[in-house]
Amino acid sequence: MLTEVSAGPYTIRGVSVGGIYTSLSVPELDVIFDIGIAPRSFVGCENLLLSHGHADHIGALTALMGVRGLNKKGSPRVLLPAEIEADVRTALEALSRIQRFELVPNLVPVRPGDVHELYGDLCVRVFKTYHSVPSVGYQLFRRVKKLRAEFATLPGQEIARRREAGEDLFQVVERPEVAYATDTLIEALDREPSLYDSKVLVLECTFLDERKEKAHSRSRCHVHFDEILERAELFQNEHLVLMHFSQFYSPDEVRAILRQRAP
Ligand SMILES: [Zn+2]
Ligand SMILES: [Zn+2]
Repeated sequence: MLTEVSAGPYTIRGVSVGGIYTSLSVPELDVIFDIGIAPRSFVGCENLLLSHGHADHIGALTALMGVRGLNKKGSPRVLLPAEIEADVRTALEALSRIQRFELVPNLVPVRPGDVHELYGDLCVRVFKTYHSVPSVGYQLFRRVKKLRAEFATLPGQEIARRREAGEDLFQVVERPEVAYATDTLIEALDREPSLYDSKVLVLECTFLDERKEKAHSRSRCHVHFDEILERAELFQNEHLVLMHFSQFYSPDEVRAILRQRAP
């Protein structure tokens, strides 16, 4: 039932149909993006990054937490737009009463521009997306040490010698790894151009051809494939993973349209 694609060092695994359900995991980074459905294999993952509160992205939060409860696990760390934190908490309290099993969430409210450390050198930056309800996207990056440019031409032995002598040769730089942008106008990319440089960009593409035109897509705050093609030269990503296709298209049709329009 789950689709899996390899994107460089990362696996993107999950299921996504616009308006129905979207939930993807990247096991190498221990993160889940959205929880519109709760596959059993996602239960061990410790970080859940929620884009917004539409049911196809958040509807299975209780199911995930319930199955984790069965496995004696508490809540994963759940990042979510700050505007919906209180309502999600209230909903989980009501569901706890209904099922007489307490769900204690670990909610981390976020706003565009926030940076949170996940573990080790892995961090996530929150960016603004443009939808009909409060929404955000997530850019995962690593903080890595890099030799300062002025030392780049030194031979290895000299670098080692200076390092031993205690000279500060390195600087910490951010290396964008995987970004996730869904349920948004395409302008989210233009206003956050670093997304075009992320090693992997997971991007919604709800509508694919002229049968649902760009104006229709924009009125629902979604990305149309036309808008991706218009920006084709901007995408410097090693892998662009498209998802959240409308149920208007069958999976075979999605592949055929993409092959035909972007050979
Ligand atoms: Zn959606
Ligand atoms: Zn939505």
